[in-house]
Amino acid sequence: MTVAKRIDGKAKAAELAESITRETAALLDEHGIKPGLAVVIVGEDPASQVYVRNKKRTAETCGFHSVQHTLAADTAQADVLRLIDELNNNDAIHGILVQLPLPGHLDEQAVTQAVTPSKDVDGFHFINIGKLTAGRTADAFVPCTPAGCMLMIADEIGGDLSGKNAVVIGRSNIVGKPMASLLLQANATVTVTHSRTRDLAQVVAGADIVVAAVGRPDMVKADWVKPGAIVIDVGINRVEKTVDGETKMGLTGDVDYDDVCTVAGAVTPVPGGVGPMTISMLMANTLRSARLAAGLEA
Ligand code: NAD
Repeated sequence: MTVAKRIDGKAKAAELAESITRETAALLDEHGIKPGLAVVIVGEDPASQVYVRNKKRTAETCGFHSVQHTLAADTAQADVLRLIDELNNNDAIHGILVQLPLPGHLDEQAVTQAVTPSKDVDGFHFINIGKLTAGRTADAFVPCTPAGCMLMIADEIGGDLSGKNAVVIGRSNIVGKPMASLLLQANATVTVTHSRTRDLAQVVAGADIVVAAVGRPDMVKADWVKPGAIVIDVGINRVEKTVDGETKMGLTGDVDYDDVCTVAGAVTPVPGGVGPMTISMLMANTLRSARLAAGLEA
């Protein structure tokens, strides 16, 4: 028996992209500025290639100047840093995204910190992380995935989460930690859990809002979830799925969707939930960067 509402991230992301497209056209019309997004990908990780293709396609749909730099897997660190320096100094580029993970010989931290904070549309630079942690989100680029999750939560229960318990599963720099900062800033009472947490199911059971960002297929079950809770599934896991007797590779989240839907109030599906929102938030950050570079309000 399904009781939960399916949160349609795909539709919400499309709505957001439409409004970004309109604002982009107005920016070009009124100020002659086209937001520019540069995506840097090193190597041939198939999942990364799909993500980069989707980002480029959405950037073009929004009317952005969109550039992709595809570097060989054995590119030297100095050459990656040289490219980032060029992009930092290119006035046609307002957002620089380095697709992660990088090949093992590259220093991921050195590369992400080389992106100038004003073009760091992924929100990975320490300056932007610091601003987010200090509650200065109006000044910061907020990482796209947690920013998208917050919009979906706000749509369900509003932007003020006073009195709500939120549990974040996962403590990565990309999702878990910034997600916790945003929830805290929205006045939620936040618990961050991770691989060393004891009695995870029991902790999750106290949550009005659950955000799962782990990378373990179907981990969160119905009997972990408080009736009526909002469950946001960030996980993207490639698994074998059998549909009509045919077995294929497909995507599944960290939440056992059908099971959790019997208890929760609202759940994001995978695919079609957080993923598309992440891409639209990247476009929103790039548009914002272009406006700020032109001295306009964000
Ligand atoms: P990560 O590997 O950096 O972090 C995973 C976190 O899960 C860690 O903090 C770890 O402590 C925690 N964890 C591992 N096993 C656990 C367990 N048994 N119980 C509780 N916690 C456990 O991953 P990440 O980059 O944060 O990504 C998490 C998932 O989200 C992945 O599936 C990734 O593909 C997906 N993701 C999706 C998007 C999107 O746009 N939808 C964006 C980023 C990441």
